[in-house]
Amino acid sequence: MAGTVLVTGGTGYIGGEVIDRLLAKGYTVHTTVRDAAKSEPKLRRRWPDAGEKLKVFSADLLSDDGWAEANAGCDAVAHVASPFPLDVPKNADDLIIPARDGTLRALEFAHKAGVKRFVQTSSAAAIAYGQPDKDHFDYTDWTDLTANPPPYIQSKTVAERAARDWVAQNAPDMVFCSINPVAVFGPVYDDDMSTSVEMVKKIVDGSIPLIPNVGICITDLRNVGEAHVRALEAPAETVRGERFPTSQKFMWIREMADTIRARVPQHAGKVPTRRMPDWLAKFLALFMPEMRQIKGELGNVRDVSGRHTEEKLGFTYIPAEQTLEDTVKSLVAKGIVKA
Ligand code: NAP
Repeated sequence: MAGTVLVTGGTGYIGGEVIDRLLAKGYTVHTTVRDAAKSEPKLRRRWPDAGEKLKVFSADLLSDDGWAEANAGCDAVAHVASPFPLDVPKNADDLIIPARDGTLRALEFAHKAGVKRFVQTSSAAAIAYGQPDKDHFDYTDWTDLTANPPPYIQSKTVAERAARDWVAQNAPDMVFCSINPVAVFGPVYDDDMSTSVEMVKKIVDGSIPLIPNVGICITDLRNVGEAHVRALEAPAETVRGERFPTSQKFMWIREMADTIRARVPQHAGKVPTRRMPDWLAKFLALFMPEMRQIKGELGNVRDVSGRHTEEKLGFTYIPAEQTLEDTVKSLVAKGIVKA
């Protein structure tokens, strides 16, 4: 029987997908946004028939205000909200503090409200970094923070570690698990989309003239949403303490470009064909912040297996090629890319 679930970060790409699925299944959904007066009208436009089934609360990750109200009456929490900016902040704490403290705040208020299950949206960022000699990863792996990875990666690793420690010490009966997606692509609702989809946008809209020698694991938004809902619904013994990486497969950006050209040639006119030599990528990193981000990733394989999640939660991944096709078609259909 459907109950009441708090989804934090209702304005987000993944948060929106989780809300969409829960409402479709008859759940009552509470969601937190930073400013309900600003965001609620947009959420109501997206789910015009939700009525009382959707309740929107103002609650920032950095403040206690609003969290008690948002959790009241909830059976479970999907804690999705966390900063995921395009730019790298100068100070890693700008991401670590809201990610970690926001997660602990969400946990504490959930526990006080008697919430029985808590699903944290972590990331493959908490799995696959800081281990230079490894290129295949799974749910048992942890990012090594002693290697001082970039701030976002630190923020997700610290937040997941902190959540697991907090539950072990303070709420051992709470059913806790994490969803650890790799790069999430898929249909977009509007132009307020995630940093991850920006990558596909940049490939298609011509902002990347040469293809750098980097790759990434891909997962589909619809599978990430499905994984959250299944983690909320599966028997406690199936999910307790689990980590659920969602990942279909690793692709080089040049393979992504080839796929887009093959699957949606009508929108591939600006998709780059020529490779960027590594020396040029390193040189550009001297003065281009976005190149600085990928400099350390040149030639790296970080192949995160999502098989454990498929087996435990019982769904099948959408092939990455289909995900890319659907992402591009959606970006064009929404007028975000004119390709
Ligand atoms: P997104 O669209 O940028 O969503 C992030 C959400 O977090 C937004 O609702 C944002 O609210 C909220 N948020 C950020 N800082 C906040 C704060 N201080 N207080 C309250 N809310 C705050 O990104 P997304 O892709 O959906 O990411 C959602 C989650 O998935 C994040 O935890 C991210 O780390 C994780 N994840 C994403 C990917 C991916 O490839 N997309 C992969 C792995 C994990 P505003 O709208 O007000 O900014």
